[in-house]
Formats: sequence, C-alpha cells, structure tokens
Amino acid sequence: MDLTLFRPLLFPLLLTTLCALHSTHATPMTDSTTNTTVSVRLVGPDGQPGPVVSSPRVIKTDAEWEKQLGPATYRILRAKGTEPAFCGNLLDNHKEGVYFCAGCGLPLFSSGAKFNSGTGWPSFFQPYAKENITELRDSSFGMTRTEILCARCGGHLGHVFEDGPAPTGLRYCLNSAALVFKDKDEVKKEGAADAK
Ligand SMILES: [Zn+2]
Repeated sequence: MDLTLFRPLLFPLLLTTLCALHSTHATPMTDSTTNTTVSVRLVGPDGQPGPVVSSPRVIKTDAEWEKQLGPATYRILRAKGTEPAFCGNLLDNHKEGVYFCAGCGLPLFSSGAKFNSGTGWPSFFQPYAKENITELRDSSFGMTRTEILCARCGGHLGHVFEDGPAPTGLRYCLNSAALVFKDKDEVKKEGAADAK
C-alpha cells in the first residue's frame, strides 16, 4: 500500500492527538478552583494539626510572586520547575518540626513522616493534613504523574508516587525550594499564637 496517500490525513490526526494529550495536563481531580476560600488545617497549640478551618485562598499575580519569592524559588513554586537531585537544602534535614509552604506559610509536611527515599529529593509518606495538599494529574514529559500543590496558594510542590513505605505506601517527592522548615519549638509558638 502506498502510505504517501495517507500523509495529509495522518498529520492532522497526529496534531489532534498531541493537543488532546496536552489539554489533559494538570486536570484538577476536584473542582475547587473557583472557591475563594479553602478548607485546611493550621498548626494547633500543641504543634499538631488543628481542626479544619476556612482560609482565604492566596491569589497573586506572577509579578507579585516573583518579587516575593525571588527568581530561584519562583521557578520551582510558580513555574513548576524541579530542582536538581541532591541539591536541595532540606534533603538531609533531620530536625523535628514542620515544613511550611514557601509561598503562603501553610503547614504541609511533618518531620515524623520524612524518610530517606534515596532519590535525592526530600520525601514524606504522608502530608501534615490531607486537606492542605491538592493533587492534579500531570501528563507533561510523556509521563502520567500526580502533581502536588499547596491547597491555599496553588504553589507547585512536587509529585506523589505509589512506591513509598508503610503505612501509606505513598512517596511525596518535594522540592526543598517549595518548603520552609520550622523546628518544633517555633511551630508550637506559632500554633499558640494562631489559637489566640
Ligand atoms: Zn501555599
């Protein structure tokens, strides 16, 4: 069969397929993006997650984020970049405390769930509170992965994979630049101040 006859037909078909694939990138699994508030858990007075509360969604322009975060953190958190493996400053942090969103200060992960995955990125088997993390299907780079974002500001944190340790079997793979660590004494002070 002479395939040259089909070429004019195949090319538009290929384009349509590629566009369809592209449009599936970062499709929200839950449609909560139109709300102006989010239901999240803040730090309680004991440093543990408090009750679910309504918190205003943090919405800023790209220019405002870049000014606040600086170019390196902006590239990760707002432009969905990935820092090179074994380069982040929180990979070997073994202190007790909580990891907060570098964009809006929401508590995202606790030191108690951190483990050494050997991947070169800070890894956790569960979030501080499931309400504080949004998951999106990510079809970029020819892979289907689950992107994780801060539920309050939409900042890109990393991805979650199903090859983590017990008890969850999950591996939340983070960029250090997306996180700000506070040790347990600072966390308790912040929780006590929030509770007032
Ligand atoms: Zn945030």
